Amino acid sequence: MASLTGGAYPPSLKAEEREALIETVKDWSIGNGLAVRPPPTVISAETDPKGISAVTVPVTLFPSPFPRQCFAQAKSVQRTYNELYAAVSRDEKFLAQVVKEVEGGDEFIRNLWNVHQKVKAEGYSQPLSLGLFRSDYMVHQDTSTLTPTLQVKQVEFNTIAASFGGLSTYTSLLHKYLAKTEYSLLDTPIPEGSLDLPENTTAHGLAAGIEAAYLAYPESELKHEKAVIFLVQGGERNVFDQRHLEYQIAKASPSIPVFRLRYADILKHTSLADTPKRQLLYRLPRSQSKVYEVAVVYMRSGYDPNDYPGQEAWDARYHLERSHAIKCPTILTQLAGTKKVQQILTTPKTPSVPSALSKFIRDDTDDVAELWRTFTNIYPMDTSDAGLEARKKALDPQLCQAYVLKPQREGGGNNIYRSSIPAFLKSVPEAHWGSFILMELITPPPVHNIILRNGNLEEGGVICELGVYGTCLWDQNTGEVRRNEEAGHLLRTKGDKSEEGGVAAGFGCMDSVTLV
Ligand code: ADP
Ligand code: MG
Ligand code: MG
Repeated sequence: MASLTGGAYPPSLKAEEREALIETVKDWSIGNGLAVRPPPTVISAETDPKGISAVTVPVTLFPSPFPRQCFAQAKSVQRTYNELYAAVSRDEKFLAQVVKEVEGGDEFIRNLWNVHQKVKAEGYSQPLSLGLFRSDYMVHQDTSTLTPTLQVKQVEFNTIAASFGGLSTYTSLLHKYLAKTEYSLLDTPIPEGSLDLPENTTAHGLAAGIEAAYLAYPESELKHEKAVIFLVQGGERNVFDQRHLEYQIAKASPSIPVFRLRYADILKHTSLADTPKRQLLYRLPRSQSKVYEVAVVYMRSGYDPNDYPGQEAWDARYHLERSHAIKCPTILTQLAGTKKVQQILTTPKTPSVPSALSKFIRDDTDDVAELWRTFTNIYPMDTSDAGLEARKKALDPQLCQAYVLKPQREGGGNNIYRSSIPAFLKSVPEAHWGSFILMELITPPPVHNIILRNGNLEEGGVICELGVYGTCLWDQNTGEVRRNEEAGHLLRTKGDKSEEGGVAAGFGCMDSVTLV
């Protein structure tokens, strides 16, 4: 496969140039909050018992080339994706079926569903639902046509705690800054203006989604001030990413109170009003008297089984779900983001069976044709004909090389790749195989870049993953969509020898696009 830039980019650097770039990137990153709390391997708790340190986020020294038409394609389908996933999360029967197919091997999904069932039995109190979504893609070279084309193919669609929106805005700004100050000074200069660095307003876009939900929540009948809660994990290291969204809300809408609440403290600091609406009340821990009515709960936690160490955590989720606060996301929206749903939606229609997609949006429009183009082959691992076919591929030592096996999990580090698949499957009871999906690996054209991680440079082939954010506010009961916006983008990059690309998990790094 041809390289995207012919190999001249990024330029090769002298030792002095490397040092100068490292210095500039380190300072700009801390100066502007392109930072994380340190991993214990970098700064231990003994060295920093008060938790005052921050370290730079792993980042590429140069923006990675990304095909312009692919970038445009990913951006242009986002609003259709928002609409699709809002519709999926409204289809409780469909989601019930999905849960039934995976719950045998997946207690976590079953527990989520049980919480939903309990709330449904007493009646949901809040019809509005907020989605801060992110659809992730890799570039795929289609050689099946006469003139090979580049297209984006969807890796996955995230409906809960889609992160890096804050940091991605700052990574784009870092590369713009370097393009102004450093790149033109190199021995092989990159003249200012020769890079095409698109605006990235993700922090603004996501904050605007939260603000819209806040405004849609009526003034408190209980005469409390309204507030937004960021529901976070204890010990979160990716805290500045979240803070950037808070700071953006504070800048754009200074009258909106925003509080951070640890998931483990939900039941300690919140209560439900004894009214038919069950308003969620937040008592400010540092004050005797300050009580807020929570208009929006933005979850940056609750997606990982580790967030639910015991019954109390499940009680807390139930408490939130039955409250009147607008949830981002509800349990139904969280379930809509499972890989099983993605697999079902990408299954093409046959002469006798219409596509599952057509249940949710008209599938004969140009917009939906664009959506189809982003799909890649994903197979069930159940006992249907397609599932049995997929099992054969997954167990075959040669065929399995082209696939990734995915459970219904989020947050990185959960997938099984290529030759690891057969042995893994054999370690799982066959009755549980249906809780996985099998996906074709996307192999993007090679890109070269230099990653700065913990002060060291790693140079070589990299794989880039583009994320496009979207915000959607809809009425679960009527289907009315009150807001539907594309909300910026993210580029994450990993070494081409690494399977997983999670920045937080320590595999990938932040990047930005230069359009080619
Ligand atoms: P998660 O919800 O845990 O982020 P993903 O589906 O995004 O799960 O998979 C994690 C990572 O694995 C991705 O960021 C990507 O690097 C890699 N990956 C997943 N699916 C594919 C695929 N079909 N082709 C190539 N790489 C993939
Ligand atoms: Mg992912
Ligand atoms: Mg995900």
